[in-house]
Amino acid sequence: MNNRHMVDTLIVGGGLAGALCALTLASVGARCVVFEKSRFDDLLARDRRTTAINSGAVPLLKELGVWDSMASGAGLIRRIEIISDGGRCTFDDALHDLQPFGYIVDNAVWRRILKDAIDAHPLIQWVEETGITGFTSDATGITAMDTAGQSWRAQLLIAADGRESGVRALAGIDAHRHVYPESALVGTVRHAQPHHETAFEIFLPTGPLALLPLKDAHASCFVWTEPTDHTKARLEGSDALFLKALLAQCGGVLGDLELVVAPQIWGLTRILASTYVQDRVVLLGDAAHAIHPIAGQGFNLTLRDLVALRRALQPQLHAGLPLKDALSLYSRLRQVDAAVMAEATHLLNTLFLNSGILPAAMRRVGLRMLNRLPILKKPFVRHATGVSRLARLGF
Ligand SMILES: Cc1cc2nc3c(=O)[nH]c(=O)nc-3n(C[C@H](O)[C@H](O)[C@H](O)COP(=O)(O)OP(=O)(O)OC[C@H]3O[C@@H](n4cnc5c(N)ncnc54)[C@H](O)[C@@H]3O)c2cc1C
Repeated sequence: MNNRHMVDTLIVGGGLAGALCALTLASVGARCVVFEKSRFDDLLARDRRTTAINSGAVPLLKELGVWDSMASGAGLIRRIEIISDGGRCTFDDALHDLQPFGYIVDNAVWRRILKDAIDAHPLIQWVEETGITGFTSDATGITAMDTAGQSWRAQLLIAADGRESGVRALAGIDAHRHVYPESALVGTVRHAQPHHETAFEIFLPTGPLALLPLKDAHASCFVWTEPTDHTKARLEGSDALFLKALLAQCGGVLGDLELVVAPQIWGLTRILASTYVQDRVVLLGDAAHAIHPIAGQGFNLTLRDLVALRRALQPQLHAGLPLKDALSLYSRLRQVDAAVMAEATHLLNTLFLNSGILPAAMRRVGLRMLNRLPILKKPFVRHATGVSRLARLGF
């Protein structure tokens, strides 16, 4: 057998979840190795998305030393405008102690910042174009074999290998799966009018269109969800045709548009794993839960997972204590948050997709009523930004 490499944690998947997990666990002294099946430059090129990060996630990112670089290029969300069927509802930062609701970060920029921090960290090793072929766990640890034939021994194996997680399958963990008949087109536009740090969520009969403010006051990214045959047809047409259609759907909220980053298509699937922990295997990120992007909350769940995972593991790893009880509590608590968010985003999508006359009128009246009732808006804002007591507890 090859020499065995000893670390504390094996992480499979070097996406946003795996990279942040390595930095989070290394921050409490754990030695980590990240296996990523692709070349890092290919990961950068493949993802044209941005991520809306809740303000509640900022303390973790600050502690990890990556926030200043992220914040310097991020767009701020200080207003959210929801528009549907002629109704309109505005949330502004007065509901959030004049603090931004969240930040818009370019995924490629974010990935680069995390990778630089990993490369500079003495406790983290990044192994690319490599996965694992199998593992066995016992009372004292877990042994895994990588695709290059090397053997690794650790306390934990973290599956951060995305929605179609191979590790989840190898561990025999079931996942509830719903494939949405819609897909999202993402890209970036420049616009004639400034965005005034406003995120627009426009509900159309075929699906939601979000316009999210970037740092440049005249640039926003879009996430436009429609039935998959529509999105595919739009991609096959010219950029000019696409822009014309987008402009028509925006209802003039940002004035004339120019395409800066061409649209890219993303399929949408809801995944909820039946448990996040099996022996010494822990699921994280989309491997554990993937939800509809309608409210930009999917990765925010992962950021909350990381806070909870670190809290669960820190004392055990330091004292060499058994991990079982701490991990099963982590799994139970985090599954609640993910299930609630998956259901809420699913319902929101269903509610706004219903094109009947009665639902449309109800949405219009509902949005107008909500707009006049700050008392109803505040709890919604606190949970969505990740600063409610439940969210802070790691639920
Ligand atoms: C259109 C869209 C918009 C979104 N917008 C937001 C938003 O605004 N806010 C928000 O919070 N969330 C958002 N999300 C959700 C967010 O993008 C995802 O939750 C997040 O990217 C998942 O990251 P991950 O690292 O878990 O998975 P992935 O990004 O899928 O990464 C998994 C990694 O594992 C690697 N891998 C796979 N298999 C193996 C293997 N066998 N061996 C080694 N490596 C492997 C892959 O190459 C990949 O790098 C959005 C999602 C979509 C689709």
